[in-house]
Amino acid sequence: MHDYDRSKLFIDGRWVPASGTGHIDVVNPATEEVIGRVPSATDADVEAAVAAAQRAFDPVVSVGERRERLDAVIAAMTKRLPTIAETITDEMGAPIRVAQTVQTQVPLAVANGFVEALASYRFEERIGNSLVTREPYGVVAAITPWNYPLYQVVAKVLPAIAAGCPVVLKPSNEAPLSVFEFIDAVAEAGLPDGAVNLVSGPGAAIGERLAGHPGVDVVSFTGSTQVGSRVGEVAGRTIKKVALELGGKSANVVLDGANLAAAVKVGVGNAFLNGGQTCMAWTRLLVPEKHYQEALEIIETAVGKYTVGDPREKDTRIGPLASENQYETVRGYIERAERDGARLLTGGADPVRDVGYYVAPTVFADVDPDSELGQEEVFGPVLAVIAYTDTDDALRIANGTPYGLSGAVWAGDDETAIGFARQVRTGQLDINGGPYNPAAPFGGYKKSGLGRELGRVGFEEFLQVKSLQLPA
Ligand code: NAP
Repeated sequence: MHDYDRSKLFIDGRWVPASGTGHIDVVNPATEEVIGRVPSATDADVEAAVAAAQRAFDPVVSVGERRERLDAVIAAMTKRLPTIAETITDEMGAPIRVAQTVQTQVPLAVANGFVEALASYRFEERIGNSLVTREPYGVVAAITPWNYPLYQVVAKVLPAIAAGCPVVLKPSNEAPLSVFEFIDAVAEAGLPDGAVNLVSGPGAAIGERLAGHPGVDVVSFTGSTQVGSRVGEVAGRTIKKVALELGGKSANVVLDGANLAAAVKVGVGNAFLNGGQTCMAWTRLLVPEKHYQEALEIIETAVGKYTVGDPREKDTRIGPLASENQYETVRGYIERAERDGARLLTGGADPVRDVGYYVAPTVFADVDPDSELGQEEVFGPVLAVIAYTDTDDALRIANGTPYGLSGAVWAGDDETAIGFARQVRTGQLDINGGPYNPAAPFGGYKKSGLGRELGRVGFEEFLQVKSLQLPA
C-alpha cells in the first residue's frame, strides 16, 4: 500500500509546509475509506506560488533550454507511470486496466506531442516589413478536474514548459494524489525554481484566487461549465487570457448505410469508458428509426460485457464513480430520466454493492432529445438512445444541446460521414471509427469551452504574438 499522506506544497523549487494547518482527505471510492490527505493551501501559499512563478519567468528563454526541461520531466514521469496508475485507481476508481492504459499512456503520448510541436514550431515569420515573433505568454494558472488527473495536468503543464511559461497548478481535491506524484517527477527533473508550483485546496477559495490574481497572465481551466463560467468572469476582471475546457453531451451519429454493429459497439465502449466520467464521451446515440430495434438488441448484448467490480481487479471494466457526490448526482439523473418517460433498457439507480460508489452501466431508449437526459451532462455510465427520422433530423438533434465538445459520425463511406461532420458544431469528431490522435487540437464549441489543447495548436495557446516593424 502506498503512503498517500502528503503534508507539503511545491513552491519555488522545493517541497514546503503549507502556511495553514488545514488538509483535505482523499477517499477511495471503492472502499469509502480515507486513504490519504493533502494540504489545504491558503491565500498566503497562493501568493508565494505566484510570486515564485513571476520570478521564474524569463521571456527570452531559449528553445533548447525548454526542450531540455520537457525531456527531463517526461523521463522522470515515465518512470513513475506504473505507480501513478495504481494511485489513480485508488483515488478515483478507474479500473486498473484503464489506469494503466488510457489514464497514463495517453498523457505520455500527449507529452510527446508537445516535444514534437516544440521541435517543429516556427517562432518567427516575416509579414511584409514586420518580424512577427512568438514569445512565452507569462505566468499560467492551471486548474484541473479529477476524471483523468494526470492527463489534465500534462495537457497544461507540459505545453507551458515547452512555451517557457511558469505554472501554478491547482488540482482537483477529489484526485490530487497522482498529481503530487507527477510533481515528484517535476522536482526530480531539476527545473529552475518556480518554473512549476503546486497548491492544493478548495477551488472556490484558492482556485478563484488564482483565476483573479493580477500576477497570472493565463488561466487554463478544465472542469464543469458552471465553474468555467465563474472562472472566466473572475479572470476577466484583470484582463488575462482564459482557456476553458468544459462539459459535453456528445452525439454518436449512425447514418443509414453505416456498419451498425461496429458503430453501436464502439459507441457503447466510448460512453462507458472510465465509468462515463469522460468529457468527450458520446453519451447520445442517434440511430435511424428503421434500424432502431436492431440497435437496441446490439446494445443489450454489448452492455453485458461491462463488468462492474473492484477497480483493482484486472477484469473489471466499470469501477465505482469517483466520489459520493458523483454517485448521488448520477443516480439522480437516472431516477429523473425514468420519471421523464425514458425507457430503461438496462442498469438503473439501484445500488450495485453495499460499499463503494458503484452505478450499473445504464442505457435509456426512447429518450426525448429535449429532456434533461437528452440535454445535460450526466458524467456517469449512462447512455441515451435516440431515434431520428432523416439526416436533417439527425443534424438538428446532434446540434440541439448547449454543448459542442466531441462526437462521432458513421456512414457507408467516409465522404458522407465527413460531409455530415462538417455541419456538426463540435470541436472533434471521429469518422467511421477513426482512432484517437493525441496531437490533434481538442476543445469545445458553444458552452464546451474556449481555446484548444494538445499538439501544436494547444502549445500555441501559451504563446504571445509580437510584431516588430523593421525599417524599409
Ligand atoms: P469542477 O467542479 O468544475 O472543478 C474543476 C476544478 O475547478 C477543480 O480543481 C475545482 O476544485 C476547481 N474549482 C471549483 N470551483 C472553483 C472556482 N470558483 N474557481 C476556480 N476553481 C474552482 O469540475 P469537476 O467536477 O472536477 O470535473 C468534471 C467536469 O469537468 C465535467 O463537467 C467534465 O465535462 C469537465 N471536463 C472537461 C474536459 C474537457 O477537456 N473539456 C475534460 C475533463 C473534464 P475543487 O476540487 O476544490 O472543487
